[in-house]
Amino acid sequence: MANGGIAVVRTVADLRATVALWRDERQRIALVPTMGAIHRGHLALVAAARGDCGRVAASLFVNPTQFGPSEDFAAYPRDEAADLAQFAAAGVDLVFAPPVDAMYPPGFATSVTVGGIGDELEGGHRPGHFAGVATVVAKLLLQALPDAAYFGEKDYQQLLVVRRLVRDLDIPAQIVGVATVREPDGLALSSRNVYLAPDERRRAPLLHQVLQETAAALRRGADVAAATGRGRSRLAAGGFAVDYLVLRDAETLAPLDRLAAPGRLLAAARLGRTRLIDNVAVAP
Ligand code: AMP
Repeated sequence: MANGGIAVVRTVADLRATVALWRDERQRIALVPTMGAIHRGHLALVAAARGDCGRVAASLFVNPTQFGPSEDFAAYPRDEAADLAQFAAAGVDLVFAPPVDAMYPPGFATSVTVGGIGDELEGGHRPGHFAGVATVVAKLLLQALPDAAYFGEKDYQQLLVVRRLVRDLDIPAQIVGVATVREPDGLALSSRNVYLAPDERRRAPLLHQVLQETAAALRRGADVAAATGRGRSRLAAGGFAVDYLVLRDAETLAPLDRLAAPGRLLAAARLGRTRLIDNVAVAP
């Protein structure tokens, strides 16, 4: 089906038919999973995919199973026409936009759980979230069977959960992480930033600022508990309710009490009703 110049399919059979044609052409195939409300962060994934692969499929699916009962599934921003126009302009070849009952038909009963790396931080604060993510990503990868799939470092723990998932289930797709795209003031682009009231939007860049300051302190040799504690206090003073701000091993997410291995500072904090997450690398 043509839609504003871009092909859109809504069934797994139609997705597979197009991907099969691309395979016959010996194209390298990329998948870019998204929940829509497309912004420059998503488009950076598309650009990376276009750089590596001859054909790029993007998925557009607000996945109900990764939202908690009191989260924003119903309110999540949806504008398919605008998303398709952005994908078309960015050079996406095919959009897979299934209805919920095509992904979860009556009787659907399977869940993929990634233990360990998915259990705490986001997994602790959003019970069931990563099972929802892992299940839908496993489905999307098996539906499209891409050579490579692209995920943002913005959701750093999610990227590691997906890497673990494909290794453990022998899903033959390369998982590529793409650096976080930010506003000029440092705020990481997110579909949820539209929830921020004007005064919250002005305060929101503090999250990235504190991560950077904490990373700089750690590089200078600061004590981990002291530096992260200071960061949490700075955020609280700036009006954030902090869920966590922690230093973790960049590959395993194991706690680091000193900067001996490549680290990742990860934070989640709420400004009013908007929950923001961000993270930065910290080299030893
Ligand atoms: P979402 O639509 O929020 O589920 O995001 C879809 C993909 O885009 C995920 O892999 C995200 O990590 C990625 N993404 C979201 N925001 C950004 C950003 N600011 N920079 C880079 N990637 C992002």
